[in-house]
Amino acid sequence: MTAHDPSLGRHGGLLGWLGFGQTRALPIPDVAERHEPVRMRQLDEIGAFLGYHRLEINASTLSVAWCYLTGSDSKLVRLIDRRMQDRLPVTLDWLEENAPQTQHGNEAAQLAALMQRLERSIDEFGKTSLDAHRATSEYNTALEVHLGELDQVTRAGSVISELATIAKVMLRRTQDIEKQMQRSEAQTRALRRRLKEARRNAEHDHLTGLPNRRAFEARYEEEHRQAFAASEQLCLAFCDIDNFKRVNDSHGHDAGDRVIRIVAESLARISDERCHVARHGGEEFVVLFRDTSLEVALARLETLRQQLAHRRLVNRATEAPFGQVTFSAGIADVFAYPDRRTALKAADAALYRAKHEGRNRIVRAGPEDAAATALHTA
Ligand code: GH3
Ligand code: MG
Ligand code: MG
Repeated sequence: MTAHDPSLGRHGGLLGWLGFGQTRALPIPDVAERHEPVRMRQLDEIGAFLGYHRLEINASTLSVAWCYLTGSDSKLVRLIDRRMQDRLPVTLDWLEENAPQTQHGNEAAQLAALMQRLERSIDEFGKTSLDAHRATSEYNTALEVHLGELDQVTRAGSVISELATIAKVMLRRTQDIEKQMQRSEAQTRALRRRLKEARRNAEHDHLTGLPNRRAFEARYEEEHRQAFAASEQLCLAFCDIDNFKRVNDSHGHDAGDRVIRIVAESLARISDERCHVARHGGEEFVVLFRDTSLEVALARLETLRQQLAHRRLVNRATEAPFGQVTFSAGIADVFAYPDRRTALKAADAALYRAKHEGRNRIVRAGPEDAAATALHTA
C-alpha cells in the first residue's frame, strides 16, 4: 500500500487518515456513531407506543406512531392526546374511524423511504469500513516491518531514531483506529439487524406472520404487471371470517386472535411461489393466484373452506368449543376488469354477496360486481 492507495482517497490521503492532515480522519464512523443512538431511540419509542396500545405493527400504525412521536401531524397528536387523557386505548378501529389511513399514506411512504436511506447508508459504511480495514491492517503490517528494520540499524543517527519514534506513534494510531472501527462495525451490525426487524414488522402482520395489507398491495401490483406481460391469468380472492364478532363476544379477544391465527394457517397452506396469502386487516384475508384459472383457484379455495368448516375448534384456555368457524369469499378473474383496483372491489362485492346469500360459501365476481363497483366509485 502507498499514500496513493485509492482506498484512502476519500479520507484525505494517508496523513489525513492518520490524523496529521487538515481533513478529519474517519468521518463515516463518527457520523454513524452520532446518529445511531437517535435512530435507536426513535425505533424504541415507536415500539413502545405500539406496544403500549397493543397495536399491530404495520405500515399504517408505524406511520401513526411516527407522526404522533415526531408531532408532524398536529391534528393526530391532539386526537391521540385527548384519547389518552380519557384513559381510552388507541385501537385499530378507533384509528380507522378517526385517522383514516389515506391521511398517513404519505407518511408511510416517508417512513419506508427513511428506512431505505438508512439501509443504504449502512451498506455504504460497510463497504467503506471494509476498505479502511484492509488499508489499516496492510499499513500496520508495513509499519511493523519497517520498525523492525529500523531497530536493526545499530548506529542509528538522530534522524533515524526520530523517524522510528514517528513510526511508533503512527503504529499506535492505526491500532487505535482499528479498534474504533471494530466498535463501529459491531454497532452497524446491530443497527442492520434492528432495521431488518423493523422492515419485517412493517411488512408482516405480527399476529399471523402473514404479509400485511401494505406488502400485499406491493405484491399485487408486481404480480399484475408480470402476469400481464407474460399473458398469464391472475385471480384474486377476498375472504372474511363469518360472524367473527360473536367469537370475540363469547370467548374474548385473545381467543378471537387464536381463531384468526387458525384461519390464517389454513389459508397459508395453499400458498406457494404462485399463490400469495396475506392478512388484509381484521378478520379479512386476500389470496392471489398467479397463472391459475378461475376454476382451479376456486376449487383450491373451496377445498380449504370445506376443511375448515368440518373442523371443530376448541378454546384451549377454557375447553369451550368455538363451534363451527367458517369464512366466506369473493373471487375475481383480475384481467376481466379494467384495472386491478376494480378487480379488488369486484372480489369484495362478490364477498358481500356470499355473506348475503348465507355465508360459508365462495362467490365468483361477475359483471354485476363490476357494475356494483362502478356505482360504488361513482
Ligand atoms: P360477518 O360474517 O358479516 O363478516 O360478521 P363479523 O362479525 O365477522 O364482522 P364484523 O365486521 O361485524 O366484526 C368483525 C370483528 O372483528 C370486529 C372487530 O372487533 C374484530 N377484530 C378485528 N381485528 C381483530 C383482531 O385482530 N383480533 C380480534 N380478536 N378481533 C378483531
Ligand atoms: Mg370483516
Ligand atoms: Mg367477518
